[in-house]
Amino acid sequence: MFGRASASNGSIAPAVTIENLQEGQMTVGRILAVKGHDVVTTQPHRTLAEIARVLADKGIGAVIVTGADGSVLGILSERDIIRALARGGTAALGDAVSRHMTAKVVTATEDTSVVSVMEDMTEGRFRHVPVLKAGKLHGLVSIGDVVKHRLAEVEGEHQALREYIATA
Ligand code: AMP
Repeated sequence: MFGRASASNGSIAPAVTIENLQEGQMTVGRILAVKGHDVVTTQPHRTLAEIARVLADKGIGAVIVTGADGSVLGILSERDIIRALARGGTAALGDAVSRHMTAKVVTATEDTSVVSVMEDMTEGRFRHVPVLKAGKLHGLVSIGDVVKHRLAEVEGEHQALREYIATA
């Protein structure tokens, strides 16, 4: 019913050096290298009730809707379920995912900069961005991943600058 691909390698944030301090140099690929490629997926005919259960059980905010060939058909987040409930009442829980998902999904690749993903999230007012490789789902970054990464990056920048100044 629900898919999940690959596993996290459990390591911590990537090292930041004076060479990669340039803004926008950190990429989505660096986040995935740390968090892994796990993505919870579902199919368009599943119901909102089923997805609500999955989101609660897994402690996540969105699922990626995929076709039989693994292509990304859409994204359904907790906000879509809340909107459906507000409009249709609890009867909406029996509706198909395809009826409430967002079909026009903003995606990234491993080469996309973290800064660019942050801009997409801010402008589009969403918190999840699927990552594609050769057109196939390869991972997912959430706003939590991006913020965590940016904090580690800023910490690393401070450390690298302190070391640079100390040795200059
Ligand atoms: P979220 O903030 O991720 O819970 O999503 C808020 C709204 O944006 C929901 O309607 C989602 O279906 C939609 N959404 C989430 N992620 C994306 C994305 N990467 N591209 C387009 N729409 C999205």
